[in-house]
Order: sequence, then structure tokens, then C-alpha cells
Amino acid sequence: MYGANECDNAVAAMHELSVALNMIDLAIREVPQCQARIVAIHVKVGPLSGVVPDALKSAFELARTDTPLADCRLVIEETAITISCATCGGDRPAKSLQSLRCRDCDSPAAQVVAGGELELTALEIEE
Ligand SMILES: [Zn+2]
Repeated sequence: MYGANECDNAVAAMHELSVALNMIDLAIREVPQCQARIVAIHVKVGPLSGVVPDALKSAFELARTDTPLADCRLVIEETAITISCATCGGDRPAKSLQSLRCRDCDSPAAQVVAGGELELTALEIEE
């Protein structure tokens, strides 16, 4: 029996799979495999990016099969949600993903300044 949750998971995994494929594509274009071997891809993933780090990890393991990056590692750095708080007058951590309020004074976020990252930050290569 398929519940709503299982459907959601399948959709999420598809999303992460396309993200993983894009990252592999980008890495291969960045470093031609005749010159160097990519041993690790470093990415930054924010809670607001819509990408689940664990799902991205499994998707990457699937996506790298039969590519020149078959034994390449994926290193995920999870970022925190940072908001700009008018009351405190600066950038503060948000309370949670569900509550985009200042953790210090509970004011609503004037602006979200970080947390939506989905970036390839570095490639570790071996000459
Ligand atoms: Zn505040």
C-alpha cells in the first residue's frame, strides 16, 4: 500500500537525483578526467534549498555509477538558516525551519540571508 508519505519520498528522491546528476556533470566539465581524477565533491546545502542531505547522499551514490566519478565522495556541508533581524539590528540565526523568527528576540525575519544554499563549493582532485 502506498501512503502519501511514500509518494512524497519518491518525489524528493527524484529531485535529489537530478541535483546529483547536475553536480557530477558540472564536476566533469570543470576537471577533464584525462588531466586529473576528482576524488571528492564538496557541496553546501541549506535547509531552505529543498534538498535533503541524506537523500542527496544516496542519490549521488546512485548517480555516480558508470561515470568517471564512480569512486568519488560527496562531502555535504549543511548550513544554518540566518535571518536579518530589524530588532537586534543584524544577522541572527533563525529559530527553526518552521519558524523564521530571530532566535534571540523572537521578531519575525525582515529578510532571510542564508539557508537556501545549494552550491558546489570545491572539488578535491588528484593529479
Ligand atoms: Zn532579533
